[in-house]
Amino acid sequence: MSIIVQKFGGTSVANAECIKKVAAKIIQSKERGHQVVATVSAQAGMTDRLIGLAKEITLEPDPRELDQLVSTGEQMSIALVCMTLHAMGHSAISMTGGQVGIVTDSVHTKARIQNIKTDAIRSELDKGQIVVVAGFQGMDEEGHVTTLGRGASDVTAVALAAALDAELCEIYTDVDGIYTADPRVVPDATKLDAVSHDEILELASVGAKVLQSRSVEVAKKFHVPVCVRSTFTERPGTVICSRVKGFEDVPVCGAALSRKESRITIAGLPDSPGVAARVVGAIGDRHINIDMIVQSFPLKTRADISFLVRDTDLSQALRVCEELKDELGAESVLPEGEIARVSAVGRGMVDRKGIAARMCSALGAKGINIKMITTSEINISVVVDAEHGEETLRTVHECFGLHKLPPATPATDVPADLRLSELDPMEGLHVQMVELDADQAELKVVDLADKPGEAGRLLGALAEAGINLDIVLQNSCSSGISVTVKRSDVERARAAIGSMAEPIAPQPVQVGDGIAKVSVSGVGLRSHAGAASTVFGVLAREGINIEMIGTSEVKISVIVPEADGERAAAELRKELALDN
Ligand code: ADP
Ligand code: ASP
Ligand code: MG
Repeated sequence: MSIIVQKFGGTSVANAECIKKVAAKIIQSKERGHQVVATVSAQAGMTDRLIGLAKEITLEPDPRELDQLVSTGEQMSIALVCMTLHAMGHSAISMTGGQVGIVTDSVHTKARIQNIKTDAIRSELDKGQIVVVAGFQGMDEEGHVTTLGRGASDVTAVALAAALDAELCEIYTDVDGIYTADPRVVPDATKLDAVSHDEILELASVGAKVLQSRSVEVAKKFHVPVCVRSTFTERPGTVICSRVKGFEDVPVCGAALSRKESRITIAGLPDSPGVAARVVGAIGDRHINIDMIVQSFPLKTRADISFLVRDTDLSQALRVCEELKDELGAESVLPEGEIARVSAVGRGMVDRKGIAARMCSALGAKGINIKMITTSEINISVVVDAEHGEETLRTVHECFGLHKLPPATPATDVPADLRLSELDPMEGLHVQMVELDADQAELKVVDLADKPGEAGRLLGALAEAGINLDIVLQNSCSSGISVTVKRSDVERARAAIGSMAEPIAPQPVQVGDGIAKVSVSGVGLRSHAGAASTVFGVLAREGINIEMIGTSEVKISVIVPEADGERAAAELRKELALDN
């Protein structure tokens, strides 16, 4: 008999009425002949309430005790769902993460699943029971209760489906699928019938709350069929698959807003190899994720490094940065809140010209000032003042015509990357390849005017000249914009900037020395803080300077001096035990 895993989020179990609807969905699947494992979240608001209780006592609760506390939210829900199933005439048994055998590491409040023992669930299923599992929690090897991070009942569901080799994992929520943007912020967002792993992985990682990004990592690695749909309607939902048919001409298929981020700048760092590695490594060691890492062009011998960090990690990250400041002899650590990050995501932006220009120009036309830009192969992100976050998201959505995308269907699936037995621990980092591209040149434009529209004007001039940009980075306006282009495009790019009707900057464009791009691809490269630390660490050990960085969940790219490219790629392959 085939197994179906169904996950119900906090709003789906918010009260007795909702829980009855959940029970009805579960029973429907059982009556269709499936064995059903349901996993549920805490009731909406409950996890926040429990965290609030802890914070009334201390602002920095002990992480083990915090896990012990917040895991009770899910424990309430499983019992209530089982009682409802019993009342509706079905046999069901609830299990906590520990009772199931969801074994995690010991990183309290953001633990990762190592493996799942399936014997207990299977034996209950074989007795005809519906099994209801608490989401978001597990137990480490020493028997301590752990939780997996906010929103991570999704991870529980997909990991259970992988471990049980389920036919389908259904994520039931309060919207009827994955939209091109959060429908609460963008009323004309379109529901996607299908979306690829890479795109939803990236969207989830940059703020689309509808799925926890780690759940997509697990789905991609183990090829778990996942569908996101509504608890409250019968509509078909969104299928997550390896590739989508119908989006061949679509550069961007979704946009996301992340409000809960702050920027930290460590200013006045010595400009020497190994400094960026030390910063990224020290933060990664504390399991803190950072992103949009931008180094400014060094003024004489001093450089700044800026990055974004989630608000929940801010105080810990600041403590680490203060230590780094003293250790490395930096001048200051500058935190900046009240910012928002907006990202456009699409596999189709690879090799298409003018995508970043289109986005920046649209924001310029609305008078929205861009404080920071970074790009990777499948993502363009900008930082704006928090008050402009929602308008920025709507503008980006509109400029890529996301309200009228063509229909998409899942393409024939490619085989799974891995069999479960091949990746231990289950949520471990999966690195696939190191690539070297030596055909790159770096252009820098410094001292841009600090007013809306300047980035769009510069990128627009390059797009009009038919020049494809690879990585685009901007920190503050005074530090300017850096782009990488193909070597053969350098002169045309220089000419295009030089002949702009209104000059973009007081100084001519600077063309850097020869550079090479080294990229590491895999799954979950951003969510595993250790991945960037490893890449940076290897380059530091080799004394190789990192000039630019582009990160996404599926790729970390670093720009290094041309002469070091081969060695950087070779050392990374060695470190990551890859033979490609
Ligand atoms: P659950 O409690 O079921 O896990 P969440 O609140 O975590 O639900 O996620 C569902 C919410 O995600 C939706 O109500 C919606 O506002 C938000 N959301 C953000 N981005 C998207 C998107 N691209 N598509 C659909 N919903 C989104
Ligand atoms: N209850 C947890 C949270 O609110 C997990 C989840 O809902 O997925 O973050
Ligand atoms: Mg959720």
